[in-house]
Amino acid sequence: MNKEINGVMMQYFEWYLNCNKNLWNTVGKRVEDIAKYGITAIWLPPAYKGCGGEKEVGYGVYDLYDLGEFEQKGSIATKYGTKDEYLLAIKALQQQGIDVYADVVLNHKMGADKLQTIKAVKCDWENRVQENGEEETVEVWTKFTFPGRDHKYSDFEWNWTHFTGIDYNSRTKEVALYKLKNKTWQMNVDGEHGNFDYLMGADIDFDNQEVVDECIKWGKWYLEMTDVDGLRFDAVKHIDAEFMKKFVKQMREKSTRELFCVGEYWNANINELKKYIDMTEGGMSLFDVPLHYNFYHAANSNGEYDMSKILDNTLLKENWGRAVTFVDNHDTQPRTSS
Ligand code: CA
Repeated sequence: MNKEINGVMMQYFEWYLNCNKNLWNTVGKRVEDIAKYGITAIWLPPAYKGCGGEKEVGYGVYDLYDLGEFEQKGSIATKYGTKDEYLLAIKALQQQGIDVYADVVLNHKMGADKLQTIKAVKCDWENRVQENGEEETVEVWTKFTFPGRDHKYSDFEWNWTHFTGIDYNSRTKEVALYKLKNKTWQMNVDGEHGNFDYLMGADIDFDNQEVVDECIKWGKWYLEMTDVDGLRFDAVKHIDAEFMKKFVKQMREKSTRELFCVGEYWNANINELKKYIDMTEGGMSLFDVPLHYNFYHAANSNGEYDMSKILDNTLLKENWGRAVTFVDNHDTQPRTSS
């Protein structure tokens, strides 16, 4: 079971942060202030190289093993700094008694090294179980070889068999939802749009055993390398719940810490959150998205909101031990789209 969070977690980044590859150094120098404010845990942004290199916020994951160590995507450092700076920041925070949570993005990959030519079929964006037309030959960015890393930490190279779908055909320059040859969208995902397995980029196929093994191998490597206190999982409603349950269990076995885990299941329906907690056997807390929306409506009601209803249909009320409450985050802040 997941431990309960009994403290104040700070998200130490926002979407438009101008940090000049220096966030890890900055946070490392501010640990005393952070502790003084009563912050007990820090959620740091994705620390691995994204497709946008030093400009990448972190959710367009290219190489999970590159924590700012290899010359890839135009720089060694990520937007936030180098691997060594990241590790030093984690240590400095922990020495101050602050828990550190890493952001884990497992749903998709972006910025592949090579194109592959395969068969795929278009699906309807609004009803993804609906195929549109016949199978066609497409060229897709699905081959990841990570030449800058040269197989350090892992020999694994990704190819189209490790993915379920993608949204761009280079052959025709067409943006569409393509389901790759003989693939099926995963079933244990959110039901919006018929099936919400696909979010962005090359969608990772967790029915593929090689993928499962590699992701678990990576997770163990990450814990060994960073010794973080917890994990924040991105976009879990798009990832097979059975895989997430297994992943969390394995990470907790591996970690020397209690390993707090929280998932971003972006759905305002409390029943969907409860269902997910059941499916993952309580191994993961969830951000209280329904409460976020209640706050939003209260703030935009010109004083008409009935405050006695602020906790209605929230995780805080229904299962407080698994609730991580928040007002806003990097996706809901002004100028972002959600
Ligand atoms: Ca997915």
